[in-house]
Amino acid sequence: MMDTDSFGSAIISGEIPTNTMIKGVGVSVGIGIGQVVLMERLVADTCPCRILSPEEIPDEVARFEAAVETAENRLRTIRSSIESGHPLDDHSYILDAHIMLLRDKMLYEGTRQSIEKGSQNAEWALSEIMAKITAAFDSIDDDYLKERARDVHFVGDRVLRILLGVSSEKKMHQLPPNSILVSHDLSPADTAQLKKESVLAIATDVGGKTSHSAIMSRSLKIPAVTGLEKVSRLVQTGDTIIVDGSTGLVIINPDAEMIFRYRQRQELLRNYHQSLLAYGRLPAVTRDGARTIRVLANIELVDEVDIAVAHGCEGIGLFRTEYLFIGRPDLPTEEEQFGAYKAVLSLNKPYPVTIRTLDIGGDKIASSLNLPRETNPAMGLRAIRLCLNIKDVFKTQLRAILRAACYGHCRLLIPMISCITEVHATKSILEEVKQELSNEGIPHGGDIDFGILVEVPSAVAIADLLAREVDFLSIGTNDLIQYSLAIDRMNEHVNYLYDTLHPAVLRLIRQVVNAGQAYGVNVGMCGEMAGDPINIPILVGLGIDELSMNALSIPIVKKLIRSISYEDCLELTHQAFQMQSAQGIHDFLEKWIFDRFPGDYFLSQQ
Ligand code: PEP
Ligand code: MG
Repeated sequence: MMDTDSFGSAIISGEIPTNTMIKGVGVSVGIGIGQVVLMERLVADTCPCRILSPEEIPDEVARFEAAVETAENRLRTIRSSIESGHPLDDHSYILDAHIMLLRDKMLYEGTRQSIEKGSQNAEWALSEIMAKITAAFDSIDDDYLKERARDVHFVGDRVLRILLGVSSEKKMHQLPPNSILVSHDLSPADTAQLKKESVLAIATDVGGKTSHSAIMSRSLKIPAVTGLEKVSRLVQTGDTIIVDGSTGLVIINPDAEMIFRYRQRQELLRNYHQSLLAYGRLPAVTRDGARTIRVLANIELVDEVDIAVAHGCEGIGLFRTEYLFIGRPDLPTEEEQFGAYKAVLSLNKPYPVTIRTLDIGGDKIASSLNLPRETNPAMGLRAIRLCLNIKDVFKTQLRAILRAACYGHCRLLIPMISCITEVHATKSILEEVKQELSNEGIPHGGDIDFGILVEVPSAVAIADLLAREVDFLSIGTNDLIQYSLAIDRMNEHVNYLYDTLHPAVLRLIRQVVNAGQAYGVNVGMCGEMAGDPINIPILVGLGIDELSMNALSIPIVKKLIRSISYEDCLELTHQAFQMQSAQGIHDFLEKWIFDRFPGDYFLSQQ
């Protein structure tokens, strides 16, 4: 054990080596450096068991019911403490759902029955039911259902704590200043009670980007990393820890040098992003004035629009609407979708909003659609293939989009087009929906721009044919690279082959741009490639019209475009096309930027 210098009371535990790094999923950006406050794990594993005598049973049932009532009252109090205008106001429905879950048939009736018929004490009965629910959900490969199992655990744990007489609250609102909250899991009720001023960051064993708590931490702007698997077992309260919500890295027991480095990085990033923000407000015109690139944002949730606008987006280049469908048992209604699309369109006026139709399948699963398991989902019934198969669901989405199109500049983007027949089939459904809306006298934006995502190699090969059919083309490099290089983008074993700058990828992009130019159609890019500074000069040189990216990259990309000349980009592109390997091209581009702007542009990747 040793004291750290810069953290005064922080203790470095002797058991965990200094600078132990673990990687999880960065779900809310920013860096937190501070001391761990470790939240206790759920108590279900440590319940006493006792067989009741027949006379004890009625009292035990009453004790269980009273505990549920207390839990309900407590949840209601937390819910009502979220005032209107609070950053979590939009998420308070989650607490309503938890209140309802307390009386869930399996949890509530199941426990009562185990007490009455199985003569089990309430704690034992409830923990057994919770274990059964977990086992049932564990065998199902569905993120939504797994999240629901966690919800059952959150509410069950609350009742258990009351029954056991241990504090049912994790004292979220009483955390000391500069805390880094570490927990096996964090329920929405826990997150709702966090005081933003005291919590520097959050690190949890479980959870992903779409878990309720992740969404809430983003709204609260608290850096967070989830899916760390065992962080709650590795640390103790008082340990020093660094949580980097941008990279998903957590460093336990950092030494003074590491803390110093991260403090510098924290400061650097803060100042850097602050200073860059001014560029967000400027147009991305090359230094010689020869090219202007429209820079837009990718979003998954309506909530992200504010941040995109603050970073200078000139519209939304990709609204991944599947997030309206994921993480729930039912399908979103037309009204609900209309509300979301209308909100994004209104907030971006007069800029365009590119609404991508449902891209479910592959790694994105919507429980409500009950899709069959596929051996090779990335090449299966995904995106437009699926939509053409579930025409009712597709038509509902198109109705909502067309109606919302009255409220701004709306562009429709169809994912995973691989042949012209899919374009024709989609257009025909779109016409059908327009006609139906007109017949019903419902106002709709009839003439919305029609575009396709070019993300399958066959679409590149027929880009000239497709360009004649559409108003715009958008290159989805995330999938285009996966399909053209035959690299599963989810497979960590072949990740090293996933080369954005592979000469084949660059040639595919050039082919799409050429087709777009030949037919006077705008060509954009919305894959991750578009937001990485190293790729910008070559994309400008290739003649891309639009780049759509993670909002935080917008200012730096605009700054870079404003610092380079189109002529230089053309020359650089010409040279890069003479090269044979991705590594060679990468090194060339890196040096090109570094020679001109030493110390800039690679900061965010460090
Ligand atoms: C892409 O494939 O590049 C893309 C933008 O779509 P997604 O990442 O959602 O598949
Ligand atoms: Mg894609």
